[in-house]
Amino acid sequence: MDQLIKSSAYLNQIPAVIIITDSVGDIEYVSPLFSEHAGYSNDEVIGRNPRILQSGLMPKALYEDLWQTILSGRVWRGELQNKKKTGELYWEKAVISPIQNEGVITNFLAIKEDITAEKHLKDELIASNIHAKERDRLKSKFLHNISHEIRTPMNGILGFAHLLKNPHLSKEDMFLYTDIIRLSADRLLGLVDNYTIISSLEADETKVEITPTALNELLRDLYASFNSAMADKGLLFNYSISLSEEDSIIETDGGKLSLILTNLIQNALKFTREGRIDFGYTRKADLLEFYVSDSGIGIPLDQTEKIFTPFYSIDSILLSGDDGGGLGLAITKGFVELLGGSIRVDSVEGSGSNFVFTTPYSPVNPISHHLLTAKMDDVFPLSPFCILLVEDDSTSTLLLEQMLKGRNITFLVAENGFEAVELVQLHPEINLVLMDIKMPIMNGYEATRLIKKQRPDLPIIAQSAFTSKEERQKAKEAGCADFITKPINKSELLEKVQELIHQ
Ligand code: ADP
Repeated sequence: MDQLIKSSAYLNQIPAVIIITDSVGDIEYVSPLFSEHAGYSNDEVIGRNPRILQSGLMPKALYEDLWQTILSGRVWRGELQNKKKTGELYWEKAVISPIQNEGVITNFLAIKEDITAEKHLKDELIASNIHAKERDRLKSKFLHNISHEIRTPMNGILGFAHLLKNPHLSKEDMFLYTDIIRLSADRLLGLVDNYTIISSLEADETKVEITPTALNELLRDLYASFNSAMADKGLLFNYSISLSEEDSIIETDGGKLSLILTNLIQNALKFTREGRIDFGYTRKADLLEFYVSDSGIGIPLDQTEKIFTPFYSIDSILLSGDDGGGLGLAITKGFVELLGGSIRVDSVEGSGSNFVFTTPYSPVNPISHHLLTAKMDDVFPLSPFCILLVEDDSTSTLLLEQMLKGRNITFLVAENGFEAVELVQLHPEINLVLMDIKMPIMNGYEATRLIKKQRPDLPIIAQSAFTSKEERQKAKEAGCADFITKPINKSELLEKVQELIHQ
């Protein structure tokens, strides 16, 4: 072996990590690459056992096998996770062989190669494979759920469409069946809408549109739109605000915030038989904390996390078939997070739930947003102004009237597209049309097309809960000058109206 050491000048030139030990395993030689590799200088390792490299993470049996193999004169090959002098872990592939002189082992020679990078790559590949499999599993669960959720309303549509064929059907039954068909179709549209939102959330494609939003007003609007449904169920309904009107104008995505609160209030309404529902917000330093609380059926403790995952519903006798496919809270959570906040629920099973979410509080400089506090009288000219409201839902009509009422303003109301076309023919004084899209008998696109034929210069604003680009494009093609999403934000509505009438 002395001879071998002497030839270390040659060994030093081999581009590999080489360790040579004596017959009891104490190091006699390490190649220059070893220092680079393990971080120990020659002096620090000569005379010591390679055991100092052990990470403690390899099974004991592996070292037993190694020693057994080389002591019996054979070559050991394997992978070891070792530790550098700095404590950093690394992986190496090792070939260790005994060197014999006339049948007696005099030394051991180890040639090693650092394979840490390959190992990481392999781990990443395994992880991404697991991830891909999980994604596939979720995708097929998603498709399975979609088909299940679509089948239920489809059943209603097909079944009642078939019953409508009966020539002896009474008028009442006919109306009842067509209503059921319409409700089922609405439910289908709602589902498709939710699927679109969830998939764009999951693909990180949902855009946040931050604009100045009058928070107190948004809460008042929500209160107005839910008030009668609460009264119908005999529930007490209240809201609370904690900022002044001026301070409550914040930079946020008002549409999403409104949808979050709408979803939570809708759920509260759905799962509360008696008692009360409250919602509101308080300011906590640079956060706003919103809440929607109810005295409903509550949520079991072990499910308070799960309800925020897509398609999760707790089986409940209260469910009346108008469920949203278990997507409501997943969308709500997604939106809250997009706005920079978080959501949780505190609940006691049997006595109610309190959903709490936060958003950053970023007030707007009030001077630059005078329009938000503008009144209709500032927006409209002094001369009489007539607005045609086309809307099949009476609460929404009322809401629009409340938002737009002012001196010199009159309203005409049509409950479907057909009536709207007729009213435009009869009333040349109409200056503006607010057109709902989804309506019975004749939808908003068709009505807009016909109205534009009669009065090409009459501005029409489409109003719809469907917010996709395609819907906006369709409205534009039909002849709408602008598009506003439901639930309608008063300041946005006034802004759009003002833009149109001052053109
Ligand atoms: P869905 O759209 O089917 O209502 P959500 O995602 O909105 O689904 O809600 C998921 C589940 O969480 C519901 O099916 C219900 O079991 C439970 N849940 C949601 N809100 C409430 C509430 N306010 N009170 C009791 N349970 C609730």
